[in-house]
Amino acid sequence: MAVHEIEKGTYETCEHVCEAGCGIYAERPGSCRTFECQWLRGMLEVDGKVATEMRPDSCGVIFDYQPETPFGDVFTAWEVEPHASASGHARRIIEGLEERFLVMIMTYCPDGEKGSGERRFVGPPHLVARAADVIWTRGVQTSRKS
Ligand code: SF4
Repeated sequence: MAVHEIEKGTYETCEHVCEAGCGIYAERPGSCRTFECQWLRGMLEVDGKVATEMRPDSCGVIFDYQPETPFGDVFTAWEVEPHASASGHARRIIEGLEERFLVMIMTYCPDGEKGSGERRFVGPPHLVARAADVIWTRGVQTSRKS
């Protein structure tokens, strides 16, 4: 995902990635500090259980979450493998979420390619319709009409 403090775009590998993880972990930007992987938080359940298959490196999707936006609580599904959101447990998780929440699905984009990956919305129809009028990065940003 984008980290505006260091001008990292979506689907670009961060220049600070190192073998151990983050090379500037103690001084990492605020965007990185506030990110919470929803699998790590235990928020992704399949059949009432937190599913190990939903770990991002297993299911190919990272789930992000922004609470209390003008659209209510919003989930973002970041594909880290092509078409990962359309199948398996990831699809089931999204189907469960979209009954109640706006879900932004970010289509996988290979590192180094131009563009930030396409986004599409699923969820309650009135929220999906309104979402088209908003500029998004990690969460709700500003209305195009403001
Ligand atoms: S946590 Fe570190 S490696 Fe990851 S995006 Fe932030 S600065 Fe880059």
